[in-house]
Amino acid sequence: MNKSLNFHGVIDLFKTQIVKQKYVAAGILAFSAIYGATNTGVVLLIKKISSEAFFKLGKYEIKTIIITLLGLVILRGVFDIIIRFFFIKFSQSLKFELQQMLYRKLHYLPIDYFKRRKVGDIVSNIVNDVAVVNSAISTLMRAMSKELWTILGILVALFFIDARLTLLCMATFPLFVITIKIIARKLRVQSLKIQKQIGQFLSILTDTITAVKLVKLSTRSEYEIKRFADFNRSLLKRIMRMVMTAKVSKPITETLIVLSAMLCLLWGLYLVDRGTMERSKLISFVIAIFGLYSPISIISGLNASIQRSISGLQRLSVITEEKEEPYGVPGKRIFAGIKQGIVFNNVCFSAGGKSILENVSFEIPVGKTVAIVGRTGQGKSTVLNMLPRLIEPEKGSILFDGVDYREFDLLSLRKNIAYATQDVYLFNTTIRENIAYAVPNITDEAIENTARKVLIHEFIIRRSGGYRTMAGENGNLLSGGERQRISLARELVRETPLLLLDESTSEVDYQTEKKIFETLVNLNPGRTVLIVSHRLISICGASMIVVIEGGKVHEVGTHEELISHKGLYWELFKQQREK
Ligand code: ATP
Ligand code: MG
Repeated sequence: MNKSLNFHGVIDLFKTQIVKQKYVAAGILAFSAIYGATNTGVVLLIKKISSEAFFKLGKYEIKTIIITLLGLVILRGVFDIIIRFFFIKFSQSLKFELQQMLYRKLHYLPIDYFKRRKVGDIVSNIVNDVAVVNSAISTLMRAMSKELWTILGILVALFFIDARLTLLCMATFPLFVITIKIIARKLRVQSLKIQKQIGQFLSILTDTITAVKLVKLSTRSEYEIKRFADFNRSLLKRIMRMVMTAKVSKPITETLIVLSAMLCLLWGLYLVDRGTMERSKLISFVIAIFGLYSPISIISGLNASIQRSISGLQRLSVITEEKEEPYGVPGKRIFAGIKQGIVFNNVCFSAGGKSILENVSFEIPVGKTVAIVGRTGQGKSTVLNMLPRLIEPEKGSILFDGVDYREFDLLSLRKNIAYATQDVYLFNTTIRENIAYAVPNITDEAIENTARKVLIHEFIIRRSGGYRTMAGENGNLLSGGERQRISLARELVRETPLLLLDESTSEVDYQTEKKIFETLVNLNPGRTVLIVSHRLISICGASMIVVIEGGKVHEVGTHEELISHKGLYWELFKQQREK
């Protein structure tokens, strides 16, 4: 399936679905046509029964008419069930495909997208908005086939009975259209607001459940309950308002149908008076018009779902219209590792209208360990985020062996970079599965060896479940230091040529951290490592130290050089020694 998805993509999806499920679609159409024909039959038979000639028929003929009528009604019921089955099949498959497409699209969106949006809101897009679009489409299709065929069937019967009256009846149709249009506009606005609010509703839920510890410790539970109630109440009010608007269309349409029937009746009576129409014909005509009552009222009721569907599609545009990361761009080089080194060349970056990195230039020689240090909020993590292209330089460039790294295929680049990020995340699964996340086929032996390197193996085997112990939601069944070391192991097992560590042992005691770093450097002599750490004593053995201050490279050198230079590094180091 094509990766790119936008509004046209969604429309294309519908078309593809119709082609893919052509037998289902043909089934819907064919059975609906037969269903419509049964309606013509029923109306014509009723006409026959209501005519005076009926009373003159013999017993056998009356029996035949009654049995045919009964048969037609049963057949109608059977077709109704078959059509419903086809509809459910079609709409459920459509929902599946739409959700798959959106979920796939999400995976290809840049990290910045997820910073801008709330989790609950995205969940609401995938669950609620898709359901709204889907239910509207299936009701719409149902009406377009079954109800329209019914109307058509009855109209054919009406024409058979009396063409003049049928035309009069049809003259009132524009009134239906105007009513539906006016209500439609209102419904769409209301529906958009509701769906947006449902997104916010889910955001409050996910936010407060995730932060339950903070809520409890801040004694804000009652406040959160009240906030939830206020929000929920306003959502309820909005939904009630929309339901009322939607419901208004039904009585209006029904009144219009009665009005149209009465007009026909009046004119029919005039024709009967003039002797140009049989009385029985008029009676059956008016009865048949009432047959239109239900399908027309269903179609006008559909207005609400159509409008909800349009607003649902509008809401989905916050996913569908987003620009994807440049995966799979043809003509890109496959990145297979570094031979000489990485160069940051006057790299600039800004976010939120603020400059974060300014002309950052430094080199990372292949096979060396380079440390990035500096005070908090100075841009260290931003530098690291650049390498796997989570963000990209706005100005300047990053060269891998002299080639702009944007020349490489993004997937191959990311496959060769392991990055233990500052914000540790563990899946709610076993410790083993967490460590093996990027390399699912890895052997137990390799996992244990890596766990030993980060000094977590002993801890794991002491747990009753061993490597099968569950980590809990975001690893909440483990301590901070354990979580960090497991996430570090997850990156190490990838054995990539480039390793990025951002405060990846900050929650581990100094002795343990020192041992881990020693093992890392000793065991991976060929690996290029970039370490960010506040604990300067742990990184002082690095080949080179880059000091970042205010988004700029302040100093560069080895530990000894920087100490003798007596600059910012020396000052920070001195402060830490004195503690
Ligand atoms: P720490 O030592 O606290 O981890 P750091 O040196 O790693 O800090 P960065 O995370 O690189 O700092 O952030 C540098 C600055 O950029 C900070 O002031 C931060 O608030 C800002 N920043 C980072 N990302 C964004 C963003 N998406 N939008 C706006 N500002 C941002
Ligand atoms: Mg940071």
